[in-house]
Amino acid sequence: MSDTTSWDEQDEQAILDAVSAWVEKEVRPIARRHDQADTYPHELVEQMKELGLFGATIGQEYGGLGLSARTYARIVIKVASVWMAPSGIFNSHLIMASAIERCGTEAQKRHWLPKMATGEFRGGIGLTEPNAGTDLQAIRTVARRDGDSYIVNGAKTWITNSMHGHGLLLLVKTDPQAEPRHRGMSMLLAEKGDGFVVANKMSKLGYRAIDTCELVFEDYRVPADCLLGGEEGKGFLQAVGGLELGRINVASRGCGIAAGALELALRYAQERETFGKPIAQHQAIQLKLADMATRVEGARLLIEQAARKYDAHERCDLEASMAKLAGSEAGVFCASEAMRIFGGYSYSTEYEIERYYRDAMLMCIGEGTNEVLRTVIAKQLVERNRI
Ligand SMILES: Cc1cc2nc3c(=O)[nH]c(=O)nc-3n(C[C@H](O)[C@H](O)[C@H](O)COP(=O)(O)OP(=O)(O)OC[C@H]3O[C@@H](n4cnc5c(N)ncnc54)[C@H](O)[C@@H]3O)c2cc1C
Repeated sequence: MSDTTSWDEQDEQAILDAVSAWVEKEVRPIARRHDQADTYPHELVEQMKELGLFGATIGQEYGGLGLSARTYARIVIKVASVWMAPSGIFNSHLIMASAIERCGTEAQKRHWLPKMATGEFRGGIGLTEPNAGTDLQAIRTVARRDGDSYIVNGAKTWITNSMHGHGLLLLVKTDPQAEPRHRGMSMLLAEKGDGFVVANKMSKLGYRAIDTCELVFEDYRVPADCLLGGEEGKGFLQAVGGLELGRINVASRGCGIAAGALELALRYAQERETFGKPIAQHQAIQLKLADMATRVEGARLLIEQAARKYDAHERCDLEASMAKLAGSEAGVFCASEAMRIFGGYSYSTEYEIERYYRDAMLMCIGEGTNEVLRTVIAKQLVERNRI
């Protein structure tokens, strides 16, 4: 997030209104088709460029919009309330951009951020490997220094934006023998080239249409000046240093799914009749709607709280973790309750709700699984409340 933003509340509301109008006009009508066919929504990418979404949180001095985390979270909630998947196209890209803005050298910022802000260069983050997700320090991809470049060998999996994007922020081992392990880890700004192989587009339960791939690196050369921050051994800290914003993002995606599922369920419950009245008038359905709405608003408030603190440069690790937990679990809860409200029709691909159900669980897994997140929250609670 930039410190030099020049937006006031009214401007940010105007941006939100423009995104809402775009989502309703352009995203809603094509979501089901692309999701079912698992085809990439290229047309949305061009529209996102025009809206400035690829530069949403990049500082204005680098050509981005420089939006606050709070406004950005609201944008993500809106997009995900209609179709979560496209939010990944600019979310993962902006996690890469924010790492460059936070940790990059001035030359790296000037080189990468302007073309990322326009969407001319679209990126993502390459952390996970077949043997290492939560335990990132166990990665095996190695970058060996050779003159003025690094030679990368290894494999990554589950990497979003890696087929249609132009490159990645790549977590590698520059010193595989280092102890503790994180001291041997670095991040490379890796533009696609010879030896950067997209081996397989993965077939997924949800979050379909978006390219999530297995990658192989075979003697892939990266110029040495693409080492993030210019210093080896900082990669792990650079990766975890961006977790607050990443968690606010994922929280917003989950909250958006929850809000969208509630909206669909509210409508259906008033249309569908059993025993001579709309099902919204049966108490069993009312209980579900009430619980769903309460989860949505609870998640929204936690996201607002975390984002406000983030924007004020206050510590917000606990708040962002709680927001992520609440937002993602709200998504799963509301999508699942909405399925019950839709009865048999929830299983029909003619209706949208089954997509929300398939998309929701990912938010409990990405950006720190909720199991690990709960342990993080508990540790922070103890730390802040020592007796
Ligand atoms: C659709 C999709 C898109 C993705 N996109 C990206 C991407 O763009 N870039 C990227 O780098 N990665 C991406 N990922 C990977 C994702 O970040 C990992 O799946 C996630 O970090 C979990 O790692 P894992 O799958 O290896 O699970 P594991 O780490 O093997 O965990 C398995 C289970 O064990 C639990 N567990 C593990 N360690 C502990 C512990 N210490 N305490 C308690 N419980 C524990 C976990 O909570 C989980 O329940 C994506 C994944 C998916 C499914």
